Amino acid sequence: MTGTDPYVPGHGDSSYDVAHYDVVLKYRPSANRLDGDVTLHCRARQPLLALGIDLHGLQVAKLTADGLARWSQRGSKVMVTLRSTVQQGGEFTVRLRYSGHPGTVPSTELGDAGWEELTDGAIVAAQPHGAPAWFPCNDRPDAKATYTFAVTVPSEYYVAASGRLERTDRSGSTLTWHYQQRAPMACYLAAVQIGRYVARDLPGPTPVRVVAPSDLDGPGYQASFGAQPAMMAYFVDAFGPYPFEDYTTVVTDDDLEIPLESQSLSTFGRNFATDDWQSVRLVAHELAHQWFGNAVTLTRWKDIWLHEGFACYAEWLWSEESGRQSARDWAEHYHQKLASLPADLLLGDPSAELMFDDRVYKRGALTLHALRGVVGDRAFFEILQTWVSQHSGGSVTTADFVAHCGQVADQDLSELFEAWVYELPLPALPG
Ligand SMILES: [Zn+2]
Repeated sequence: MTGTDPYVPGHGDSSYDVAHYDVVLKYRPSANRLDGDVTLHCRARQPLLALGIDLHGLQVAKLTADGLARWSQRGSKVMVTLRSTVQQGGEFTVRLRYSGHPGTVPSTELGDAGWEELTDGAIVAAQPHGAPAWFPCNDRPDAKATYTFAVTVPSEYYVAASGRLERTDRSGSTLTWHYQQRAPMACYLAAVQIGRYVARDLPGPTPVRVVAPSDLDGPGYQASFGAQPAMMAYFVDAFGPYPFEDYTTVVTDDDLEIPLESQSLSTFGRNFATDDWQSVRLVAHELAHQWFGNAVTLTRWKDIWLHEGFACYAEWLWSEESGRQSARDWAEHYHQKLASLPADLLLGDPSAELMFDDRVYKRGALTLHALRGVVGDRAFFEILQTWVSQHSGGSVTTADFVAHCGQVADQDLSELFEAWVYELPLPALPG
C-alpha cells in the first residue's frame, strides 16, 4: 500500500488520490513553531479500508475522517483505518490537526529536504521528498491536487505561497495570507516562503511579482530578476502560454546555495542578484520549470531529465535570445565536457543518488538539441508547445515524450532516444 516510487521509498500511497488540500497554518518564526489544520479531500483509486498519509516530525493531536474507525502515527506515516470499505471512486475527507517544530526529511541518497529556518523567516525546499515536513500529504509526484492556503504569521512578515494571493486578513498583531492554487499541483511543488519582504510587480502581459527585502536593488538585481519580463515573453513565444495564473520570485535575505522550484513560485537567495551568467541562467531555468516540471510533471522520479534537461536547454535558448552565446555553442561546449567525464550515468534512470547530478541536466539538454537537429526548428518548437498544451496539469513518462515527438515530427525517433536516454555512451551530436 505504501511506497510508490523506488527513488523515494516509503512515500506515497497509490490506493487513493487527493483532489484538494485545504491547508491552514499558523507559524511563529521566532520559535519555529508550526500549528497546522489540513483537510484532504480524497478519492479511492481501489476498494479502500485503510490508507497512509505522509507526515514527518510533527505531532498529530486530532484526526477526523468520514467513516473513521481508528488512526495511529508511526514514524513518518499516519495510518487511517475506516469502518467500512470505500468503493473505487468513492470520496471522503480526512482532517488532521498537528503541530511542532518543522525541519527536514533526511535521506541517505537524496539528502535533506523540507522546511528550513532562515535568519529571519523560513522557506520550504521540498524537492523531491520534503513535502511531509510541513503538511500531511499523499507524497507521490504523479498525484496532483488543487490547494488553498491560509497562513497566519506576525504581521511584520510576508507570506508567499505557490498559488495566487486572494486576500490578507489582519487580526491584532497577526496577518493571515490566503492563497489559492487552481491548477493541479504535485505536493513537492507546494511551498510557503516567509520573511520580511516587500512585493513589487514587474510590468508585462504575464505578471511577474518579486518578493524580496526592501533594500534589494541595483544593477545586479536588474540584470537577473529584472530580466524576468523579457524571459517570460520569450518563453511564452517558444513554449506556449504561461501555464499558471501568475508568477512570483522570492529573494531571501540569506544567501542560498541553489534556487528552489515550486509551482508558480521560485525562490532564490540574494546572492543571485548579480549580472553573472551563473545567476541569470538560473533565473531563466526556474522560470522554464513552470512549463517543464510544474505544468507537465514526471510520473516517476527516474524521468527527472524531462524537467532538468528541458530547463537547462531553456537556459541555452535564453542565452542566445539575450545576445549571449548561442544554444548550438553551449551544446558543443557541454558535449565536449561530457565526453571527458565517465559515461556511467543512465539519463533515463540515473538512480536516486544521481538524479540531480549535473550530467542529467546537460545530457538532457543535449538530447533536446540532438532532437532539434534531426527534426528541424519548426517541428522542435511545435513538439515543445504541444507537449505542454496536451499534458499541462498531468503526469508524463519518457515513453510519452518519445511517442509525442514521433507523432508531431511524423518520423520514428526511437533510435535517437534509445541512444541518448537508455544507453551509457555519449552519442555524437547530429551535424
Ligand atoms: Zn531545475
